Amino acid sequence: MIDLHTHSLHSDGTETPRQLVERAKAAQLTLFAIADHDTTAGLEEAVNAADALHVAFIPALELTVDLHGRHAHLLGYGINLQYNELLNALLWRQEGRRVQFREKVRLANKRLNADHKGELDAEALLKEIKGIPGRPHIARAIVAMGWEQKFRPAFDKYLIDYIPETVAFKPAHAIELIHRAGGIASLAHPGSDEIGLGRFAKTAQEVRAALKELIAQGMDGIEVWTPAHTFKMRAFYEKMAEELHLIITGGTDWHGPSFDAPAPGIFEIPDTVAEGIRSKLKM
Ligand SMILES: [Zn+2]
Ligand SMILES: [Zn+2]
Repeated sequence: MIDLHTHSLHSDGTETPRQLVERAKAAQLTLFAIADHDTTAGLEEAVNAADALHVAFIPALELTVDLHGRHAHLLGYGINLQYNELLNALLWRQEGRRVQFREKVRLANKRLNADHKGELDAEALLKEIKGIPGRPHIARAIVAMGWEQKFRPAFDKYLIDYIPETVAFKPAHAIELIHRAGGIASLAHPGSDEIGLGRFAKTAQEVRAALKELIAQGMDGIEVWTPAHTFKMRAFYEKMAEELHLIITGGTDWHGPSFDAPAPGIFEIPDTVAEGIRSKLKM
């Protein structure tokens, strides 16, 4: 079993890189990756923990890209952590994320007000947040205020259909950065309506066209195994990957226990899913 998509507290997860690696060890995963949003800050700790605990680990990240007017996520696997051009681009992006965080809090506040709940203070939250700020921080704050009982309804009620105003990476630029850092690029949760192709590509033909557009820009793979996909979607994207010669990746998108999603090792991703990435990264 493998898991190639998890988040630490260096972005919007709640666990340290070391805790995540310990989780991978306990679940006896044969390949593991942490892919924080727009940062590599947790990867050195993770690499060291993985070495010490003998966990096969891939340094990764998840870049936000602008795609058809909203955001999509590109996973980069096997990146060189010392590659300055990538680190500089991430600094630019991290500033953009703070601006976007304020936009997201505004969106949530509008809906919270309409529900006669209170309001969140974006600046106070930003001060408190240790990692790269994201919507999960806002959903957790809504739960902490007692306005919702659980993470998932807080997220779905107050934070979906967010339309970004600031620019993220262009897909071609993100893919190029990943490649130049020695990595490979895979489109995260492509079937997602909220942050994937599902939002604008409704038919198989439209999905194929969207994937071809990204392949022309250098994209190497797609995340087929994800809790964001139904069984049917997984089969569909598996077929797409075969047809378009894309490698297949998979992961839980774990953000910690409060996220209402299956943990690494609970959502089962077979070892065979790692074959493509192993051969591309020669590991
Ligand atoms: Zn994502
Ligand atoms: Zn993710």
